[in-house]
Amino acid sequence: MPTQLLKAAPVTAALYEELKRKISGFKNQHGRSPKLVTVLVGEDPASQIYVSKKGSTCHALGMAHEDFKLSSNISEGELLLLLDRLNADDSVDGILVQSPLPKQISSQRVYDHIRPDKDVDCFSATNVGLCAQNRALLLPCTPAGIMELLRFYKIAVAGKNALVLGRSDIVGKPMALLLLHADATVTVAHSKTSDLAEHIANSDLVVSAIGRRGVLTGTLPWKSSCTVIDVGIHRIADGRVVGDCEFSEIEQKVAAITPVPGGVGPMTIAWLMANTVKAAYFRKGN
Ligand code: NAP
Repeated sequence: MPTQLLKAAPVTAALYEELKRKISGFKNQHGRSPKLVTVLVGEDPASQIYVSKKGSTCHALGMAHEDFKLSSNISEGELLLLLDRLNADDSVDGILVQSPLPKQISSQRVYDHIRPDKDVDCFSATNVGLCAQNRALLLPCTPAGIMELLRFYKIAVAGKNALVLGRSDIVGKPMALLLLHADATVTVAHSKTSDLAEHIANSDLVVSAIGRRGVLTGTLPWKSSCTVIDVGIHRIADGRVVGDCEFSEIEQKVAAITPVPGGVGPMTIAWLMANTVKAAYFRKGN
């Protein structure tokens, strides 16, 4: 059987059709579109691209978007004051503060300052806790987008051995939780994990969020039935964007794999849109 390429495009197309219906329903009921506010601090080029992509997706779906561009010298207090204002503004449904933030600002204090019902990135301690207890309104975008991709391609997770590579608060840990809630048997590996090859050999599903090249190669003992989800994003010397995996080597050895670009990245944005629409309806009581 040829390896299945798990492209995001058909999944986001289906998701966006459904979202457009919900957005127009919201507009009819409440006289305005759901609104996402992005906050960009400083001039990191990658962050600028991510924020602009989020804004253009909002517009394509008929959602409102406002972007606050702040100087990299801004104090944490000033940023928290802006969040107070956005938290209180009834026309704002979702608030996203683009990471990374400059050194003088504590990212976690900022995330924790966003109202949980507007925290569409799901990085606040409250939403992380609700996610851990499997009772969250809003799910973290990258892990939830990956679960949606797996559902769309009918890749079963229950009872399978899932290996999550990486234990960051924004990808690895919540990914492990969502897979656990979906009844997978989950192993989380990190930079101190020994015997990575042994874990790979035992895995039906591998999600890589290590942000490093050269670790996941074709020489590892992949199961031929394995599904590989590559979260990593790397811009390499020739200008191409690639993932953590040596794609051409691993593709030949496994049953299914996500491309980079065109895999996890668009699913993350799609889930952000879904969270914003969900947050908008929730605050209106439905
Ligand atoms: P991060 O905070 O740097 O975390 C990386 C994790 O990988 C850490 O837990 C680290 O272990 C672990 N790790 C490093 N080397 C390893 C190795 N050789 N074997 C196993 N684990 C190893 O990164 P992140 O924020 O989670 O992001 C990871 C990647 O995903 C980055 O490339 C990022 O750009 C990308 N990303 C993509 C999307 C998307 O939408 N596609 C969204 C978010 C992030 P320790 O904890 O021991 O240090």
